[in-house]
Amino acid sequence: MNWETVIGLEVHAELSTRSKIFCGCTTSYGGEPNTHVCPVCAGMPGALPVLNREVVEYALRLGLALNCSITKYCKFDRKNYFYPDLPKAYQVSQLYMPICRDGFMEIDAENGKKKIRIREIHMEEDAGKLSHNAHSSQMDFNRCGVPLLEIVSHPDFSNAAEVIVFLEKLRETLLYLDICDCKMQEGSMRADINLSVRRPGEELGVRTETKNMNSFKAIARAIDYEIERQIDILEDGGKIIQETRRWDDEKGTSSGMRSKENAQDYRYFPEPDLLPVQIDDEWITRVKENLPELAYQKRERYMRDYRISADEASVITSHKNISDLFESLARRCASVNQAVESAHLVSGEIMRLMNSANMLPEDLIIDADKLAALIVFVTEGKINRASFKETVEKVFTNNADPEKYIAEKGLLMLSDDKAVKDAVEKIIAANEDSAAQYRAGKEKIFGFLMGMAMKELGKGGNPELVKKVLQEKLNGKKTEL
Ligand code: ADP
Ligand code: MG
Ligand code: ZN
Repeated sequence: MNWETVIGLEVHAELSTRSKIFCGCTTSYGGEPNTHVCPVCAGMPGALPVLNREVVEYALRLGLALNCSITKYCKFDRKNYFYPDLPKAYQVSQLYMPICRDGFMEIDAENGKKKIRIREIHMEEDAGKLSHNAHSSQMDFNRCGVPLLEIVSHPDFSNAAEVIVFLEKLRETLLYLDICDCKMQEGSMRADINLSVRRPGEELGVRTETKNMNSFKAIARAIDYEIERQIDILEDGGKIIQETRRWDDEKGTSSGMRSKENAQDYRYFPEPDLLPVQIDDEWITRVKENLPELAYQKRERYMRDYRISADEASVITSHKNISDLFESLARRCASVNQAVESAHLVSGEIMRLMNSANMLPEDLIIDADKLAALIVFVTEGKINRASFKETVEKVFTNNADPEKYIAEKGLLMLSDDKAVKDAVEKIIAANEDSAAQYRAGKEKIFGFLMGMAMKELGKGGNPELVKKVLQEKLNGKKTEL
């Protein structure tokens, strides 16, 4: 008999505000342990928190981008628990009145579009970090108080592929909204996976939660592992216990950490040290009007306006820096043809150069004016493809001046007919035999003669013109140019 998988996600995104959620300490990653701390985020008794307005602004951006309704009067709550990475022994979070509710994100699933409902998005503070070695455990509170948004979905996913598509789109959204750097290896985006299985048509099964997954690959593996584990237990007549599990990516297995009955354990209560947040319509309208165009919206627009393929559009929107480059080129282009050429350039040659230089998209700096000039050169037939590629590389690596480079290297194609005619005549004269074979019907030999003529002309040879002149000369026609 078959089983159905049900998955719900809780995703944590660390916000890239400059300061922490309730104090002025920096949010920057790393640093000497316990140097980004003050009495507020170190949890000293009596220190009072003050909400960073920017955190609310970022939450509104995400909430509106994910079609949520905004809680205009929202509050913070204390989630009490003791853990050495949380010096206050409580986390300030939102339980009763989260800032965003009831949104959705549409994903491309196996059988077409699917809506994943977002139950809520709430604001909270991050905890510190522990590191353990054989002899001691060390605490670093630098991360305490870094603002987080927790995005909670309804249990709407049916398999690992849907989860990954959703997470990729969410990641892209966070990046385009410029609110999170999404460096999964630094933990700025991490997901908890809630998963249960059931027979089709039955009520929801008992779920487990696999915590803090921070790579897409590991997430997909952990999901497939957990599905199988639960089905095996149930088919053997066993029961699933509701528990938190930890995934071990090296072993490819997970193990139970603690069983979890319900959220009451945390003895939530309204946070008495913070005022409620009042969000008026003006604020919401302003954020809404200033939402940037998101990656998927750009893809649709590129495909519609420039007839760029879906694949190319995805490469271009894979990072904001890349799509920014494409758009600044497209803006400088005089025709759709040149815009399409820009798309080829960005998704092809530029990506290739970045890869071979081991450059991350966020580090790409290149002069769009120079690339735009080159696009004009190649689309107007002033330089050939090989010279185009060569010059693009020089702009990429040395910020070369394309016009100067083209002039210095003699890359400009000769539209001087006299030079082409002379070269062709010289080649035919020097290769009488080949010319005769061609005239006798051995058409293949044309390529050889063409190559010789191009070589004679150097990099500036305009292949189309050379071909035309060569054909005319060989076929004995009078060249009228
Ligand atoms: P908790 O308070 O324990 O974190 P929540 O009610 O907040 O639990 O739900 C957490 C996540 O678990 C949500 O994403 C939700 O969609 C998902 N979820 C809830 N019940 C199930 C279930 N039976 N199977 C799979 N996912 C579930
Ligand atoms: Mg939860
Ligand atoms: Zn602080």
